[in-house]
Amino acid sequence: MELWFTEKHTEHVKFSIQVDRQLYSSQSEFQRIDIFSSKEFGRFLTLDGYMMLTQKDEFIYHEMMVHVPMAVHPKVRKVLVIGGGDGGTARELIRYPAIEQIDVVEIDEEVVSACRTHLPQTACGFDDERVRLYYEDGLKYVRRYEDAYDLILVDSTDPFGPGEGLFTKEFYGNCYKALKADGIMVNQHESPFYPNDAVAMQRAHKRIVDSFPISKVYQAHIPTYPSGHWLFGFASKRYHPLADQDADRWKALGIQTRYYNEQLHKGAFALPNYVEEMLEKVEG
Ligand code: SAM
Repeated sequence: MELWFTEKHTEHVKFSIQVDRQLYSSQSEFQRIDIFSSKEFGRFLTLDGYMMLTQKDEFIYHEMMVHVPMAVHPKVRKVLVIGGGDGGTARELIRYPAIEQIDVVEIDEEVVSACRTHLPQTACGFDDERVRLYYEDGLKYVRRYEDAYDLILVDSTDPFGPGEGLFTKEFYGNCYKALKADGIMVNQHESPFYPNDAVAMQRAHKRIVDSFPISKVYQAHIPTYPSGHWLFGFASKRYHPLADQDADRWKALGIQTRYYNEQLHKGAFALPNYVEEMLEKVEG
């Protein structure tokens, strides 16, 4: 008998992975959490049936979310991660000795406990004394802070269900306020490829452009996300992602990466024409 996980990417497109075993399944207060094991992608986490990460390709997403802003901002000490309950973003952050504090605000405690049990590859990010976990809605958490963080990483689910509030103008405005005068916010920016995803991506981009003086978009190839073409938003009060990239400083840290490198940092901001057009349309 064959067992398959299938995610609908559009009304007419499905993406399937053959499953060896279901390791975990639970309906939490916020969402359905499943963890499977598979031959091709190793273990993988889905929330409400949507792919969050696989052991095989999560390094791409987490490296691109963390190392791009870390190679730009010269002095990151305090970081806020919104979402990120699998621990992968925290795992990349703890590789920087100069970071003093990493606050992870995850709405769903059950995601963290399931990942601690079944996905130690990412959950190991929580095993560092600089990481503090808060089980709270990121939208509410960020409202309370002003001039507090050097870097905010929005490692959220998609713009529906519990993640919906993390794509609002109010949220981006509060992130702006919670950042220091030279702070940077990076968010997962959805995909430009399928029309429904592209609309969500444009909506988020418009709101970020309205909230930050510098707002750029970069890309990565993530095989298990819809279309495999994924975007990240780089929103900043002072630093430009290319003009202020300090490749020598970053290289001197000696951080071994499998995806990110200094050349790719530059190339990731060179977007296809159709994506540039979509962004320009909402930039006004
Ligand atoms: N890399 C993933 C992706 O884009 O598919 C994101 C993975 S991470 C597991 C997303 C996390 O965001 C989930 O654990 C979810 O519970 C959390 N989350 C969703 N809405 C949230 C909110 N309003 N506040 C804090 N965390 C939230």
